[in-house]
Amino acid sequence: AKEQGRNQMEAYQTSMSHKAHERLKLERNLRKAIEREELVLYYQPQIDLINGRVCGIEALVRWNSPEQGMIPPQQFIPFAEECGLIVPLGNWVLRNACLQSKRWQEEGLPALQVAVNISTLQFHQNHFAGSVQAILEETGLDPKYLCLEITESVAVQNQEQAIALLERLTTLGISIAIDDFGTGYSSLSLLNKLPVHQIKIDKSFIGDKSPQGAQIAKSIISLSRSLNMNVLAEGVETQEQYNFLMEHQCDSIQGYLISHPISASEFEIWLRARIQS
Ligand code: C2E
Ligand code: CA
Ligand code: CA
Ligand code: CA
Repeated sequence: AKEQGRNQMEAYQTSMSHKAHERLKLERNLRKAIEREELVLYYQPQIDLINGRVCGIEALVRWNSPEQGMIPPQQFIPFAEECGLIVPLGNWVLRNACLQSKRWQEEGLPALQVAVNISTLQFHQNHFAGSVQAILEETGLDPKYLCLEITESVAVQNQEQAIALLERLTTLGISIAIDDFGTGYSSLSLLNKLPVHQIKIDKSFIGDKSPQGAQIAKSIISLSRSLNMNVLAEGVETQEQYNFLMEHQCDSIQGYLISHPISASEFEIWLRARIQS
């Protein structure tokens, strides 16, 4: 039994150092990926339910790894947050989303607001507002075409600081959306204090087939209305969900029913076809 215990211990230590080694390798690869431009942005359209028009796009990052192919964000964003690479990664995303948006405007496509996901850690980095401003100046994108998607967690630790920062960003003319609404530390008094333009109803409520899911979605819509905020439903996959959201006067939607997230060139084709029809 003693012998067995020692073997188990050794196996455990080997697997720990294996893990640590894997992490270091991943960190190195991700750092290189940012430098070598292996990251790509996909875009998913947002539709205004009143007129059916595309009213915005969300930029969603992927890692196009030469060894592993297209890697979804959930497989590297949490890791990037842990090791701090989220700051350079987030800046890369922000710069490229702004650049692409500006380029489309110059090519004569209708001007659309681009929404960029901001991790809580990135939001709390020093000089976040300054780097956003620098990227807007560098790319020449009018701040009114940029929306930053944050989650309520940005205001959990230091509420005053978060509010001040959001106020600074909105003063620049940037829009703010609260992502995954209803899943976090939602506090109604906090929501009332945050200078936010849009609430995004989390897709878990939209996809929920029970009466509770629909009830929550309805409540979030009326809450947004009473706070004078715009409300968008994400994860809309079926005509039924679409009809429900129309009926309850949700402002806009995003989801596979309209389009999956697609590459920049695919999006351009998609948008041109949609404008013509
Ligand atoms: P999110 O911000 O909530 O983004 C929405 C996710 O739902 C996207 O997954 C999108 O592809 C997916 N989605 C869109 N429509 C539907 C639908 O109708 N049904 C279902 N089931 N899913 C739908 P994706 O692209 O894999 O991104 C996952 C998460 O990774 C994002 O969730 C976001 O939290 C994070 N993420 C993505 N890009 C970035 C980024 O540039 N920076 C940061 N910090 N996080 C990012
Ligand atoms: Ca988002
Ligand atoms: Ca979301
Ligand atoms: Ca999210």
